[in-house]
Amino acid sequence: MEPPKVEKFSSAARGNGLRAVAPLRPGELLLRSDPLAYTVSKRSRGAVCDRCLLGKEKLMRCSQCRVAKYCGAKCQKKAWPDHKRECKCLKSCKPRYPPDSVRLLGRVVVKLMEETPSESEKLYSFYDLESNINKLTEDKKEGLRQLAVTFQLYIREEIQDPSQLPPSFDIFEGFAKNGILH
Ligand SMILES: [Zn+2]
Ligand SMILES: [Zn+2]
Repeated sequence: MEPPKVEKFSSAARGNGLRAVAPLRPGELLLRSDPLAYTVSKRSRGAVCDRCLLGKEKLMRCSQCRVAKYCGAKCQKKAWPDHKRECKCLKSCKPRYPPDSVRLLGRVVVKLMEETPSESEKLYSFYDLESNINKLTEDKKEGLRQLAVTFQLYIREEIQDPSQLPPSFDIFEGFAKNGILH
């Protein structure tokens, strides 16, 4: 593997960043990484494939939760390792559907609990993200607290106790990092 062309650094005033460690040519690819986690939004749900996000008229539905939809058997199979645990949660909270940020954080948690860290975590991890909790207004904090409660209800099929979460993971902070505030 080629040596990395960028490194992580942090500055007290501006937070974390990446900087070049080798001479660069214009247009040169510095870094490519799959996201740690992603999910279709409520708006696109049912209209695009849960894995490749391709829009298609006829999508295949997960026979377990009947929520996740795929463009074909190949995507469904590839999506299963990431969907397996959320599938039970989605099924258990039916007929309700979780807020997008709750489903997304569920996927983040599952990823962080994997034994082999995701490729995207090597350079810049979820724990490096700033939560900006101190900058939130009381209203937004209250919103996050409610999301945290919704999250615990959503995930309880898989995680009943905070001790089962990844080490040093905090649900409230997780939402602040996700940056989705309603
Ligand atoms: Zn697909
Ligand atoms: Zn499913």
